[in-house]
Amino acid sequence: MAETIAFIGLGNMGGPMAANLVKGGHCVTGFDLSAEACAKAKEAGASIVGSVIEAVNGADIVITMLPAGKHVLSVWNEILPSIKVGALVIDCSTIDVESARKAHDLASAQNRQLASLDAPVSGGVGGAAAGTLTFMCGGSGEAFARAEPILNLMGKRIVHCGDNGAGQAAKICNNMILGISMIGVAEAFVLAEKLGLSHQALFDVASTASGQCWSLTTYCPVPGPVPTSPANNGYKPGFAAALMLKDLKLAQDAANASGATTPLGAEAAQLYSLFANAGHASEDFSGIINFLRGEGKG
Ligand code: NAD
Repeated sequence: MAETIAFIGLGNMGGPMAANLVKGGHCVTGFDLSAEACAKAKEAGASIVGSVIEAVNGADIVITMLPAGKHVLSVWNEILPSIKVGALVIDCSTIDVESARKAHDLASAQNRQLASLDAPVSGGVGGAAAGTLTFMCGGSGEAFARAEPILNLMGKRIVHCGDNGAGQAAKICNNMILGISMIGVAEAFVLAEKLGLSHQALFDVASTASGQCWSLTTYCPVPGPVPTSPANNGYKPGFAAALMLKDLKLAQDAANASGATTPLGAEAAQLYSLFANAGHASEDFSGIINFLRGEGKG
C-alpha cells in the first residue's frame, strides 16, 4: 500500500534514501533548508514544499535525517503538534542517546497516539544510494513492526535493538569498535614497516588469524591488499574522519553520562580530533595511518 511519507533532511544520506522510497512506490514530500538538496530530491521524484509543517501535512510516516541532536529536537518540537494523529515518526540521524530519548518523550507527550523510532544507519552514502543500509532501531515493538517495510526499501538489514534510544546506543558502540580497531590495524602496519615486514605479508597472516577484523579485511588502510579500500583511492571517503570523530565524541558523551569506562574509546576520540584538526577532516578515516606515521602532522 502506498503511504504518504514526509522526509525532512535531504542531504548526502537523506536525498538518496528519499529517492528509494519514491522508487518503492510511495508518495514522498520533502523539505530541506538547502535549495540544492531540494532540487536533487525533486529530480528523484519527491514533491518539495516550503516548510517542515507543510511537509508533514497529512503524512502517515515522517522521517528526519539531520546533522545532530539539536536539529532533530528543534524539528520534532516544531512538527509534532501538526502531525496526523496516529502517525509514525522515525529519526534516522546519528545523534546522542539522551536527545533520542527526549525526542521519543516529545512524541508521546502529544497524546496523539504517535509511534516513534530512533533508527540510525550504517553503510554510508553508497549504502544509501544502493538501498543497502543497516538500520539499528530503538522503540516499541509496534513502532518497529510498522516501520520495517518502509526501512526495507532503504536498507538490507533492519535490527530492533530495544527500547527508546537503543538504536543510537548500538550505533555509537559499533562505531567506537570501528574507530579503535582502525587505529589498531594502522599501528600494526606502521610497526610492520619499521620491522621490514611487507604490507601483503602482514595482511596474509592477520586477515586469517586472530588479528582479523573489518578494518583490516574490508577497509585495509594501506593500498594493495584490499583493492576496493579507500587507501587505493587517495583516501577519498568512504567514511570521512569528521563523521568518525562525531561518533567517537557521542560515544564518549554517553560513556561519561552512564559511568562506563572506555579508555581506548577516549584515546581514539583524541587521535581522530588531532587528525581532523590537522586538515584531514574530509579524508577517509583510514587515512589516520598517515598521521600515525607522522606524515600528516602540522
Ligand atoms: P548532510 O549535511 O549532507 O545532510 C543534512 C541535511 O540536513 C542538510 O542538507 C541540511 O540542509 C539539512 N538540515 C539541517 N537542518 C535542517 C532543518 N531544520 N530543516 C530541514 N533540513 C535541515 O549530512 P548527511 O551526510 O546526510 O548525514 C545526515 C545524518 O546521517 C547525520 O546525523 C550523520 O551523522 C548520519 N550519517 C551519515 C553518514 C554518511 O556517510 N554521510 C553515514 C551514517 C550516518
